[in-house]
Amino acid sequence: MATSTPTRADTDLTAADVAWNLDDLVDGKGDAGVDQLLDDARARADAVSQKYRGRLADLDAHGMAELMHEVAELSDLLGRAGSYAGLRFAVDTTDPTRGALMASTEERATAIGNELIFVELEWAALSDEHVQPLLESEELAFCRHHLASARRYRPHLLSEPEERILADKAVTGSSAWSRLFNELISTITLDVDGATIGLEEGLSRLLSPDRAIRKAAADAVTVGLEPGLRTRAFVFNTLLADKATDDRIRHYGSWIASRNLDNEASDESVKALVDAVVHRYDIPQRWYALKAKLLGLERLADYDRNASIGQVEEQFPWSHAKDLVLGAYRSFSPEIADVVQRFFDGHWIDAPVRPGKRPGAFCAYTVPSMHPYLLLNWTARRRDVLTLAHELGHGVHAYLARGQGIFEQTTPLTLAETASVFGETVTFGQLLAETTDPAARLALIAESLEGQIATVFRQIAMNRFEDGVHTARREHGELSADRFGEIWYDTQTAMLGDAVEITDGYRSWWSYVPHFIGTPGYVYAYAYGQLLALSVYRQYEVRGAEFVPSYLELLSRGGSAPPEELGKIVGVDLADPGFWDGGLAIIQEQLELAEDAAKKAGRL
Ligand SMILES: [Zn+2]
Repeated sequence: MATSTPTRADTDLTAADVAWNLDDLVDGKGDAGVDQLLDDARARADAVSQKYRGRLADLDAHGMAELMHEVAELSDLLGRAGSYAGLRFAVDTTDPTRGALMASTEERATAIGNELIFVELEWAALSDEHVQPLLESEELAFCRHHLASARRYRPHLLSEPEERILADKAVTGSSAWSRLFNELISTITLDVDGATIGLEEGLSRLLSPDRAIRKAAADAVTVGLEPGLRTRAFVFNTLLADKATDDRIRHYGSWIASRNLDNEASDESVKALVDAVVHRYDIPQRWYALKAKLLGLERLADYDRNASIGQVEEQFPWSHAKDLVLGAYRSFSPEIADVVQRFFDGHWIDAPVRPGKRPGAFCAYTVPSMHPYLLLNWTARRRDVLTLAHELGHGVHAYLARGQGIFEQTTPLTLAETASVFGETVTFGQLLAETTDPAARLALIAESLEGQIATVFRQIAMNRFEDGVHTARREHGELSADRFGEIWYDTQTAMLGDAVEITDGYRSWWSYVPHFIGTPGYVYAYAYGQLLALSVYRQYEVRGAEFVPSYLELLSRGGSAPPEELGKIVGVDLADPGFWDGGLAIIQEQLELAEDAAKKAGRL
């Protein structure tokens, strides 16, 4: 007798019941609550505009503080409406009513935001002498860094009518193209052994220890990426051109300059990071050569890189993963573990894989008056446990930084990975400490090292791809799908050297990465954040419990100061020229640990 009812264990492996409760964002009023929030925001924006437009230069510190408190409350309303609509859409991008709600929310929020563009523009137009005493005032302490850093865009801002036109047209321009791309990749399906599966599930099969399964999955991904490839290349081309136009009229010197400015990172420090990582491409190559031996292969193919080297692929029930991650966080800070617990108890996590759900994982900060939400695509692999630990780190960072208010809760991208990588590293340490079996230890160290390689080396190779396509679009015009493939191939080959054979099919694998589309230049921040976080973690290793209060202080400061200043709280100096080599040395140590573990496990 057949039954389709899942057993308890199956349910726990799929985390079927772990779903968001988004009611808080809209006071339990559903879609109607979004309208109410936007109506309220519209009325407040009108009032602010009436009272303050054209008068910023007349405001003293007290008046400016009143204005900024108004803007904060209004932004909170917009943030709640936008978060609700965006998160509802993320869990089912194929539902037209969710898409429509998100589009209408975005349109209304943009219109309301436009009403307030004068604040930023008038503020940026004030002289340094005028703003200096305001920035020193205690009344404006809650938004001091925000106001100071807002002026960094001064050389790149246009007139108010021009800014309004650009913001209005972006709704049907770059953000519409970006949304189209996300919808296109959400509907990609793969055919494996006669079964239809999603792209995420196909990619997760590349972790399989069985080469035939990996090869079949990789072939299926390549075939699955083929339909619409030219359309996705066209979307990418359009956005590359759009960015080139934007950079030209705003006088940015290179395709990456605006991203660096967003990140409050100097062009020089980012170039130094990229150079330092490219200079150590020998680390991934040495690892992949070792990995080929571990897998009994002459040489790895691209689809072998993520293969599990363990004999058995362990599955983690959701409840086990939860205990493990909570224990890891508790091992260094009960205070942080209590925050983590709230994510599980409060329905702040959406875990299962579902059709139409956005791929990958993310943490949505939402707004400081609410709490963050995590999206996962849980497939019960060890990697998913680390992703859970990682996203919870983001969540903890967001939660602890709520006190900074809406202007300064969020960190620049370069600091955004600090807590996530830290949490992930501690979770790995916990797993390793509990593991005595040599083969299992090897598997764990290998997985940690591969995480570092994926985050540091792979992201910098992707940054080199982005650099290649943005530069090519600017210098030679529209790129063919083949040309994208060539640049992808060349930049991957630079990182992998002779250690990995790149198959022809892999040339189209650039075409499902949402970051390239939605946030150009984003990916280097992973490497920046990882190497920064490793240095912070090193401080914890050296100083132990004494370090923890300074770490909590760092997280609770959110984005209330430039990264260099925040780094100093935990004893990290970003201005030190050898800074990046420190994080890379830790990865080198892990590589040596892996080589040693391979010998002890009798695998060489
Ligand atoms: Zn992250």
